[in-house]
Amino acid sequence: MPDAKNLFLKFKTYIEEIQALIASEKLLAWDLEINMPKSAAEDRAWQISIMSKLIHKKLTSCEMNLYLNELRKKDILTLLDSKDKALIREAGREYDKAVKVPGEIIEALANVTAKAQLTWQDARKKQNFELFAPSLEKIIALKQKIADYIGYTGSPYNALLDDYEEGMNTEKLENLFSKIKKEIITLVQEIQKSNIKPDTSFLNLSFSKEKQIALCQEILEFIGFDLNKGHFGESTHPFTIGIGPNDVRLTTRVNENNLLCAIGSTIHEGGHALYEQGIDPALYKSYLFNGASLAIHESQSRLYETIIGQGLPFWSSIYPKLQNYFKSELNDISLDKFYKAINKVEPSLIRIEADEVTYNLHIIIRYEIEKDLIENKIKIKEVPEVWSEKYQKYLGVIPKNHAEGALQDIHWSLGAIGYFPTYTLGNLYAAQFYFQAKKDIPNLENEIEKGNLSLLRNWLKEKIHSYGMIETPEQIVKRICGQELNSDYFISYIKDKYSKLYNLKLKQETILSY
Ligand code: ZN
Repeated sequence: MPDAKNLFLKFKTYIEEIQALIASEKLLAWDLEINMPKSAAEDRAWQISIMSKLIHKKLTSCEMNLYLNELRKKDILTLLDSKDKALIREAGREYDKAVKVPGEIIEALANVTAKAQLTWQDARKKQNFELFAPSLEKIIALKQKIADYIGYTGSPYNALLDDYEEGMNTEKLENLFSKIKKEIITLVQEIQKSNIKPDTSFLNLSFSKEKQIALCQEILEFIGFDLNKGHFGESTHPFTIGIGPNDVRLTTRVNENNLLCAIGSTIHEGGHALYEQGIDPALYKSYLFNGASLAIHESQSRLYETIIGQGLPFWSSIYPKLQNYFKSELNDISLDKFYKAINKVEPSLIRIEADEVTYNLHIIIRYEIEKDLIENKIKIKEVPEVWSEKYQKYLGVIPKNHAEGALQDIHWSLGAIGYFPTYTLGNLYAAQFYFQAKKDIPNLENEIEKGNLSLLRNWLKEKIHSYGMIETPEQIVKRICGQELNSDYFISYIKDKYSKLYNLKLKQETILSY
């Protein structure tokens, strides 16, 4: 079928044009955060909004419709390889979603959220949820409409969730989350009963900013980030942006009185950045030059940030370097004391400051609340009360005001409903992938202890990064681990690590030795 081949080549060229626009839009966004003079904000908003409109127009055009109509036919699909099929699948997914929801609804949401972000900032400053409630009400109503237009089975929340994480639904989430919730709540209670109380005060001494940046750059190279094909900068909200295989940029956030802030965010973003640098360059210019999903992307950042970056093998190797940077501050602090301090568990109110054990409870609370809002099971005005009840029940702490309660995250004001679960899913994937990596590479942790992180990086590149978006999250975990996403790996990892740290005698009914 030579016509089909021709048609596919034309389709690929069309997609390349979209990709060039997307890469340019990313560059505008990077510049906005890093270099742009403040007074250019309005001009930049104009440039970005036109660019997004152009991308949307091309993604949903009649031309795209014609391509997809033809290329989605079975007899044509059988002629294509998995990469080309995936390109049609992903472009088709974007197209279907975009054409299902009427333009006026999308525009209404854009208008509401633009204002809602400002209202949210103001409400948070004033610690007043009531100020934000009318905006949230409008956002939830529009999201419910969008769910109806997209269509769903079961909960309307499924339509929103699938937008962020293809193939995920509330039934699967309930299964995964109910187990974690039970196990983590018990574990946190046990930890609180332990007489081991790590001293973390030395982490809040004064650490020079210049030295922290230099150290973080060294850590980035240590984990395998190629600075010749990337850029490392600083911003208030750390982020990573993959513009192309030769241009991956990331930022960190430095706090002179909190040593872990820059180290943690650098390793986290470094995990995202390694993913972007590891995608097969042949996928560049195609829609597939991207992480497989938000959760798979987060699995890479969390694997590096927590399992590696808060692990003993990693610090056994690199701690002397850290001490060398901060001689007077850390000379008397042993590796053991440092390791215990960076893994201190303490129930708290602020999600982004939470430790590895309690973090997922913060996410589960947000998930339960936003799902109930979409399903009309609770009213907007009840959110702060429900928030407090859940924090008390799961974490034993109660916010004193709305700023440290329901107003702490930006997500809802952006209309990002269904996003939060991807954070916890990322942690679960990370533990499951790491379990498999240890199985496939028997000396993995000894090598990490010796300062060799290339075995892990190559394994991740070969098994996950290089694929870009060719496979769905479900396909990836099945191919690598031979089974679906399973929360037992995370639970085992966490119980094993923290029972040693806090000297706990836990019942390990799960047989996975970590
Ligand atoms: Zn992340």
